[in-house]
Formats: sequence, structure tokens, C-alpha cells
Amino acid sequence: MKAIVKYAPEPGNMEIREVPEPKPAPGQVKIKVVAAGICGSDLHIYDSDIAIPVRPPVTVGHEFSGVIVELGEGVTEFKVGDRVVSETAFSYCGKCENCREGWYNLCPERKTLGYWYNGIFTNYTVVPAGRVHLIPDNVDDISAALTEPLACVCHAVFDLSVILPTDLVLVSGPGPIGLMTMQVIRSFGARVIVSGTDVDEERLALARRLGAEYTINVQKESLADRINELTAGKGVDVVMECSGSAHGMNSGLKVLKKRGYFTQLGMGKPVIEFYVEALNYKEPHISGSLGSRKANWEQALHLLSRGKVLVDEIANVRLPMDEWKTAFDRFRRKDGGKFILFPFKQD
Ligand SMILES: [Zn+2]
Ligand SMILES: [Zn+2]
Repeated sequence: MKAIVKYAPEPGNMEIREVPEPKPAPGQVKIKVVAAGICGSDLHIYDSDIAIPVRPPVTVGHEFSGVIVELGEGVTEFKVGDRVVSETAFSYCGKCENCREGWYNLCPERKTLGYWYNGIFTNYTVVPAGRVHLIPDNVDDISAALTEPLACVCHAVFDLSVILPTDLVLVSGPGPIGLMTMQVIRSFGARVIVSGTDVDEERLALARRLGAEYTINVQKESLADRINELTAGKGVDVVMECSGSAHGMNSGLKVLKKRGYFTQLGMGKPVIEFYVEALNYKEPHISGSLGSRKANWEQALHLLSRGKVLVDEIANVRLPMDEWKTAFDRFRRKDGGKFILFPFKQD
């Protein structure tokens, strides 16, 4: 079968290659890939500038939905034909403090699908049955392919931030993660402002259609002035920073209220100039956010199934895997929302 393979560690070094079809080991399931999403981190794997361990040659890709086609020895909880998604933490130690307390996303031994183990930009993949979740019948294949990024959003919102239904929240950055973050927060009633720049005008319009109370183009109007006006000078209760840009982080901290919550979801440059004065004067609660935990997958599927998070319009570019290069280039230029790739035609 064909696969998109990162075949050597240096930047680039990715191409379509012929790889053997995998067989499920005991305890694993073999899944036929139906729809695959391109993640920002796939670009980082291409560029070889990601801190998560990568083991080339490896089939890339980790966001997907699929159908079980074969069960490894001892797997009884699933059957052939089940529509499923899989967590991306292929293996972790199970013994460190993080693992013992259910935070395996932070395990130093964690090895990830599409980084260390062959991923899903291909026709078939194998994963441990313990990572697999059934897709509710009313969730379509493309929406289900966004379960992974939505689980990361659920981790940031439910596990790492404190948001009340009465809060006003700033979501900085209207990319797929920002648009999902806004909807997860809207699902329990808090009001959301989404901010972006000139290139984001279409995404800001989509944010309004999907439930954002306010959108702000920070190149057209002052974020600080608008938020002062909306909060009588107090500042927003929570900032969810989804852009990963220094500007997004620093302007977010400036409009955060005293003792507010600030959670970083966006991944940008490893070192930036940082408005550290906010720590001295505001006593903010600041958290990072990395990946997701098992419970977040159930939350994500639940929100999709109940129609609380709509992702169909976010997943607005759909291409065959043969056109991955075009897709990666367009994704890099932000020419589209979430990119969905469909597996190679097989004869
Ligand atoms: Zn991802
Ligand atoms: Zn561990």
C-alpha cells in the first residue's frame, strides 16, 4: 500500500512510498483509514523542528476516523466493521507519576502514532485496542476525523482552565483549534470573543456563524479598547490562546482581568519576548496544554454527537492523499481551515 513517509530526520525528506500492509499484534486492531486530518504538528515533522520524538522512516499522520477490519489475538471489546477513532498515545510507560495519575499525555516515555509508530496517511494502520473509541452513529466520518484535535481542546478547557457559564472568554486565533475551543466553551453557556487578523476575516465570519458573541480583527480595531468597552475596564475572565504567536500571547495577557485564567494551546516559536509584568501585577493563573487524556476523547465524541461542536464547515478543504504536497503548502499559507485527506485508491 502507499503511504506518506518521513524517511530521514532532516527537514523535508517526506514522500509517498510503498510500505507493507500492517498486521495487528496481540491486543491490537487493524483499522482501514476513512478520513485523515492534517495537524500543525505534521508540518513540524516535515520541517524537523518538533520536540516530540520522531523515528524515521515512519508513516506520518495521527488524526483520523476509520473502520476496524481485523482484530489481533485477545481483542474482544470490538468487532470487524466498527467505526472508530484512536488516541494517538500509542505507548506510554504506565509507571511514572504522570501515567499513574491519568496524565499519560505528559509521560516522558510516550511514543506517538505518526511520529514513532506508523501513522495514518495511508490505507491501513494498527493501534492498541485500549486506545480505540467507537464513533457514535450520528457522527459522520469527516467530523469524527477531528476527534483528536477536539480532545486536545477538551483537555485545555475542562482539565486546565476554570471557566464559569457567566464568564467572558477571549479565544485568540480563529484556526480550527480556536473555532473548536469557542464552541466547547459556548456549550456550557460562557460568552466568547474570537480575535484574529486580516487573513482571518473568513474564519472570523465562521466564528460568528458558529456562536461567537463578538469577533475582533486586531488589525482593524484595538483589542484592548474593545475589551475595555465590553468589560467596563475589568478585562476578560479567561484567555484561551490558540494562535501561538507572541502578539497573541502578550495582547491576551494585557486584556486578562486580575486573577484571570490564561491557557496556552497554540504552539509557536520556542522562545519569545514575554509580557512578564502581567505576572507581577495581575496574579494570573497560567497553564500550558499538551495533547489529551483518555477522558477527553469521550468528551469530544459526546460533544460531536450532541451537535454542541460543529466541525463540518471547519473541515473545508478535502483532497486525496496523492495531493498531500499541495495540501501541506496550502495549510502552511493558511489557505483553508482543517485539511482532510482521503486514502489512496487501491486496486
Ligand atoms: Zn494533531
Ligand atoms: Zn509514564
